Amino acid sequence: MTDRAHVSTDSLEDALLPWLPQQRWFAAKGSPIASLRVASRVDVGSRSDVQVEHLLVDVELGDGTVQRYQVPLGFRDAAVDDLAAWRLPIQDGPFVYDGLRDPTVIALYSDAIAAADSIGPLDFRLVAGAAVDAGMSGRVLGAEQSNTSVILGEVLLLKLFRQVASGINPDIELHRVLAETDCTYVAPLRAWIETESDGELSMLGMAQDFASDSAEGWTTALTSVRDLLASDRSPEDMDSDFAPEARGLGAAVAHVHADLARGLGTDERDASSTVAEILGRVEGAVAVVPELAEHLPSARDLVARAEAGGTATVQRIHGDLHLGQVLRTPSTWLLIDFEGEPAKSLEERRRMDSPLRDVAGMLRSFDYAAHHLLLGDADVTDETYARASAWAARNSSAFCDGYAEVAGYDPRDHAALLGAYELDKAVYEAVYEARNRPTWLDLPMRAVGRLAPPVRG
Ligand code: ATP
Ligand code: MG
Repeated sequence: MTDRAHVSTDSLEDALLPWLPQQRWFAAKGSPIASLRVASRVDVGSRSDVQVEHLLVDVELGDGTVQRYQVPLGFRDAAVDDLAAWRLPIQDGPFVYDGLRDPTVIALYSDAIAAADSIGPLDFRLVAGAAVDAGMSGRVLGAEQSNTSVILGEVLLLKLFRQVASGINPDIELHRVLAETDCTYVAPLRAWIETESDGELSMLGMAQDFASDSAEGWTTALTSVRDLLASDRSPEDMDSDFAPEARGLGAAVAHVHADLARGLGTDERDASSTVAEILGRVEGAVAVVPELAEHLPSARDLVARAEAGGTATVQRIHGDLHLGQVLRTPSTWLLIDFEGEPAKSLEERRRMDSPLRDVAGMLRSFDYAAHHLLLGDADVTDETYARASAWAARNSSAFCDGYAEVAGYDPRDHAALLGAYELDKAVYEAVYEARNRPTWLDLPMRAVGRLAPPVRG
């Protein structure tokens, strides 16, 4: 059996320094690491010929910010070919690797969840009334994103957060509330993992039902757009017309909003503070996208109209809603990933906001889905572009119809505030595209032009 004591924390730190930046989920790619420290190292036990340790690793970047990462490690005496890609560069020691890639390590986590165990400072918690089977095997879900998701026994999806912040994780928090309201438009939360160090709580992962037979909203929407652009029929005659789906999605989002309001309350907020922030961001973005300057007068008008609307009802919302955050199962739509916008702090992500922000996020996503396939194609005719735009308009409208049926108000009745949220998002996209994909800049800029028409003078 491996003697982990032979691997000092110093050697682990030396090995993690080149290894971490190569991991897909490492958020600070390209920023030099000033220092790296193992903040916590816990023995999680052993199974077969593997020993498992749970590490929290603090990475200090050049600008002084510190990011904390969760890194479960497996230790074996002998190398295993299937795990070689995740090996830490440690010379003359045991074979050390990313434990979440090893089904044996996952089985250990899975059993700890089933037993609602505490292992050292790690607390595995079951949602009241939930039962999780022991002995489930696991496999990592497809392409790794900002977190690592593991499917357990084809029934649960265990998402381990890679970047860990102290405080309450909104994904777990909101899923717990939605479990209490029996919301059927999310995959029910069954368990989560948390830890306390230096009196501060951090949440490390969550397990919810795995919707095995589901398709991502983005994929379903793109199929519909592709079919429409390849045909000369009108959308309502197409088998893959998305409008009934968009309507159902609008209803699902409204149900989730109603449940979040019921579970965590609402508040009234003066719209002026929200729109002032939006205007500030639009003005700030001119430095990156100079073309935005001619839209500023109309943006100020839009914001003034939103402000004239008086107070806005705010509540907890999804915070980062788009077609990639919804799954279509054979029977319903599910909203996933309530973490909020990754770039914001935990505190900002937990702030109440208008549900119109989520609606605006989805409308922007329809616009992206519609025109995505045409980007970078120099031969696109005006007619094709118009067909794509009509797809976006049709589905935005169906989404709002579905939302209105459940919410009892139509988001379009708050046109100025909704428009201000759409503008906020479109300007964020414009900054992103200008920096990363300049040939795509036209897409958000057309939306900016619609929401805040240019004033040339
Ligand atoms: P990202 O970095 O893209 O935000 P993430 O690490 O935060 O990803 P999620 O967005 O929660 O993880 O989920 C990633 C993918 O896993 C989703 O796009 C979806 O395809 C799939 N997925 C998430 N939850 C479920 C579920 N309950 N059932 C089935 N598939 C799911
Ligand atoms: Mg996410």
